[in-house]
Amino acid sequence: MRKPLIAGNWKMFKTYDEVLSYAGDIIQRISDVKDVEILICPPYVYIHPLIEALKDSAVKTGSQNVFWEDSGAFTGEVSAPMIASIGTEYSIVGHSERRQLFGETDETVGRRVHAAFRGSLTPIVCVGETLAEREAGTTFDVVESQVRKGLAGLDADQGASLVIAYEPVWAIGTGKTATPEMAQEVHGFIRKILSDLFGREVSEQIRILYGGSVKGDNIDALMAQSDIDGALVGGASLDPASFERIIRFKR
Ligand code: PEP
Repeated sequence: MRKPLIAGNWKMFKTYDEVLSYAGDIIQRISDVKDVEILICPPYVYIHPLIEALKDSAVKTGSQNVFWEDSGAFTGEVSAPMIASIGTEYSIVGHSERRQLFGETDETVGRRVHAAFRGSLTPIVCVGETLAEREAGTTFDVVESQVRKGLAGLDADQGASLVIAYEPVWAIGTGKTATPEMAQEVHGFIRKILSDLFGREVSEQIRILYGGSVKGDNIDALMAQSDIDGALVGGASLDPASFERIIRFKR
């Protein structure tokens, strides 16, 4: 049984005061939620204050990226052991904004995934096609290549604990969502690749999140799909009330 994971990606939003006020608010709102794992990935500078502010709650924190080396002369970078050492469990890796704006490739995604595991972090590996790729009918080729290259060299134990996020690039921040059926088709396809890589039993343990304009009015139908195990939520995670609605998806 895969425990649903609802993860918020705050991207480059919020001031320090807003972070603290959000934390106080969300703790109250979701204190009774037991059967959903809740994660917030703020900008690096807010991870530690957020951990402190959320310490009496079950809400976890993650980072939005992680560097592929563990330490050294890499000005401006942050490594997995650093992130893990402050009590963080997860790192988003290969988000489409990193791929599109910061030159992330499948090869660097793979290096970050290995670094995350070395540093005891769980990577949330993002994959997804662009609009041009979908229209050209290459969605499955693109996603397969991203999954295989991003996860190359992992063993079955690592495979069992990782998280995948399928985020069609055309749906991120655009208000356009894949229909639940479109999303399920790709999620089912990803699970078959995971089965090929790690075996069927392990593939059944891996959570595959959907991301791309997830909101209160579409989360229920998405979560009703058999291979959708949670959501990676950008814009709608910035407001505690709308994030709460997503966390309280209807089964
Ligand atoms: C994201 O940033 O991963 C995302 C899915 O954003 P949004 O929910 O705003 O589309």
